[in-house]
Amino acid sequence: MRFASLGSGSKGNATLVEAGATRVLIDCGFSCAEAEKRLARLSLAPGDLDAILVTHEHSDHIAGVARLSRRHQLPVWMTAGTEAAHKGGELASYQCINSHRAFRIGDLEIQPFPVPHDAREPCQFVFSDGRRRLGLLTDVGSITPHMISALDNLDALILECNHDPDMLADGPYPPSLKQRVGGPFGHLSNQQAADIVKNISRTRLQHLVAAHISEKNNQPELALGCLAAAVGQSSFGILAADQPAGMPWISIN
Ligand SMILES: [Zn+2]
Ligand SMILES: [Zn+2]
Repeated sequence: MRFASLGSGSKGNATLVEAGATRVLIDCGFSCAEAEKRLARLSLAPGDLDAILVTHEHSDHIAGVARLSRRHQLPVWMTAGTEAAHKGGELASYQCINSHRAFRIGDLEIQPFPVPHDAREPCQFVFSDGRRRLGLLTDVGSITPHMISALDNLDALILECNHDPDMLADGPYPPSLKQRVGGPFGHLSNQQAADIVKNISRTRLQHLVAAHISEKNNQPELALGCLAAAVGQSSFGILAADQPAGMPWISIN
């Protein structure tokens, strides 16, 4: 199993997960043309995808989904709430996710789980090829016990490190937006992300990726430093996905 990012941050998110012959795109916050360009950087075309999964209806996750789906006949999987809230027009086809029930796309087993975020019915995912487990968790305002148990025993984790609380407080956002981002249905701070990592079993963990890093309210070095401090001496790699370049393929052994 391997994974990559086409880009990560408040201007657009898209993650690739591949197992065996199956390849899915999670979210597409880029325009269709931009997504095609970013896929080409990884030597992929939209036709190489089997499906698009959507975590929630915020534009940095869904902006390009409907057009990409229509143009390339890709089925879109999302919760009923996300489907009701999306405004991108028709999809090639729609598959409803029950956020408490695992489902399968080809060689990938996918376990969704609900998360606290200010969207209609947001969920995040754990992917497995039957042997290895990859967790994806971004766009989350607070930590729930359900989330921690869903993320236990992962081999890789893509984890939101949205903001540094001091940078958010001193930064350019208006007070209402600062409150939203830092609130219980907003985004994870570096410290909250570190608390999650501290609270999950890490014996199998090979890769930890800091994602959805704010360009205005955080710095990759702060996020990585906070995660590294939380886990101390670790045997796994910690790296950051960014907005312009995302992250190249990472294999889970
Ligand atoms: Zn987002
Ligand atoms: Zn969001």
